[in-house]
Amino acid sequence: MNLDQVLIVGGGIAGLTSAIALRAKGFDVDVVEQDPNWSVYGVGIIQQGNVVRAVAQLGVLEDYLAASYPFAGLEMFAPNGAHLVSIPTPKLAGEDYPANLGISRPALHKVLGDRALAAGAKIRLGLTIEHFEDQGDQVSVVFSDGTTGVYGLVIGADGLYSKTRSMLFGDRYAPAFTGQAVWRYNLPRPDDVTALHVYTGPNSVGLVPLSDEAMYLFVTSPEPGNPWFALEDRAAEMRSRLAFAGGRIGALREQIVDDAAVVYRPLEALFVDRDWFEGRVILIGDAAHATTPHLGQGAGMAIEDSLVLADELAKAKDLPTALSGFMARRYDRCKFIVEASLEVGQWQLDRRTDVDNPGMVHRMFEVTSQPI
Ligand SMILES: Cc1cc2nc3c(=O)[nH]c(=O)nc-3n(C[C@H](O)[C@H](O)[C@H](O)COP(=O)(O)OP(=O)(O)OC[C@H]3O[C@@H](n4cnc5c(N)ncnc54)[C@H](O)[C@@H]3O)c2cc1C
Repeated sequence: MNLDQVLIVGGGIAGLTSAIALRAKGFDVDVVEQDPNWSVYGVGIIQQGNVVRAVAQLGVLEDYLAASYPFAGLEMFAPNGAHLVSIPTPKLAGEDYPANLGISRPALHKVLGDRALAAGAKIRLGLTIEHFEDQGDQVSVVFSDGTTGVYGLVIGADGLYSKTRSMLFGDRYAPAFTGQAVWRYNLPRPDDVTALHVYTGPNSVGLVPLSDEAMYLFVTSPEPGNPWFALEDRAAEMRSRLAFAGGRIGALREQIVDDAAVVYRPLEALFVDRDWFEGRVILIGDAAHATTPHLGQGAGMAIEDSLVLADELAKAKDLPTALSGFMARRYDRCKFIVEASLEVGQWQLDRRTDVDNPGMVHRMFEVTSQPI
């Protein structure tokens, strides 16, 4: 198949898990990451059963579990704090492993980065692609430092604002602001926050346990016009998004005081509604299907992409068969996650009370429980 050398553009969750999965199948892998410091911001991420299962298949489960906080399910509350429902979730990685977990982004990045390097991926920082030419039997690449390379496959794992995607498809696909943003803040974990707590409502709030000591609080808010907030206003702005809350959330609100520790992120989404490849260049992760966090599955989809792509590349007789096989296994599942997440966000924007939030979560678990 002439795949001696694979180039991955982007050293984030999709890029690193791809590097690990491809090395396990014997491919030589170069990764270029544009951030010279290779940093990620310091809040956390929810990983559900399908993601724990995917990380087990990737072979990094023990390090991953050691860096995370396992939990059994999801507790849903009304905006006034009344408990609505407990949603138990399946243990997809096996009885001995947790159904879900919370992990800090830096911890996840370290687990994946260390393993990709140990597996033999060559990772170069402060570098991107400047240009590529697909010559049919190989892709020749010029990097931003003027060096060049020749690859059998280029994987664009360069996130929401993917340069690889623009080089492939021009401006046909662009991230769209959804009208909402998420504010996040790390706090000490109260002893009884041992599961994901979600408070429904137009400003939905979540508590995500990350370790014995820490959790993060998120609040999703409508932000018409996609405003920008000065750093010195961020703690006050985040508190104001929680002004409606009493009880536990109201008390936690008063602990949000450090502007620099507030992580603010407008929500943007994108779905490439055609094959995510052209010739010898393919997009995975947020570059192809960036979703909002309403179902907590964006990174999960990226990790699953990596496993499936490596599997198809290792078993198919030629590259077009491998890439088409990958699309057949990924397109509908990722489309569902993007669309369902956007739907939940729209319910919140429309202040709908006649919707079945727990039903949507159940449906997400049903779909993601299916084998990849
Ligand atoms: C507010 C918020 C909360 C979220 N919460 C969750 C959650 O709880 N659970 C979950 O599963 N998902 C969650 N997600 C989604 C998740 O963060 C993404 O789906 C995931 O990070 C996608 O990984 P990726 O590797 O495709 O992209 P990214 O994580 O964006 O990584 C892309 C990498 O490529 C690099 N890069 C970019 N451009 C270039 C270039 N031109 N050249 C070289 N390198 C480049 C970047 O520096 C970065 O390292 C959330 C998303 C948001 C916005």
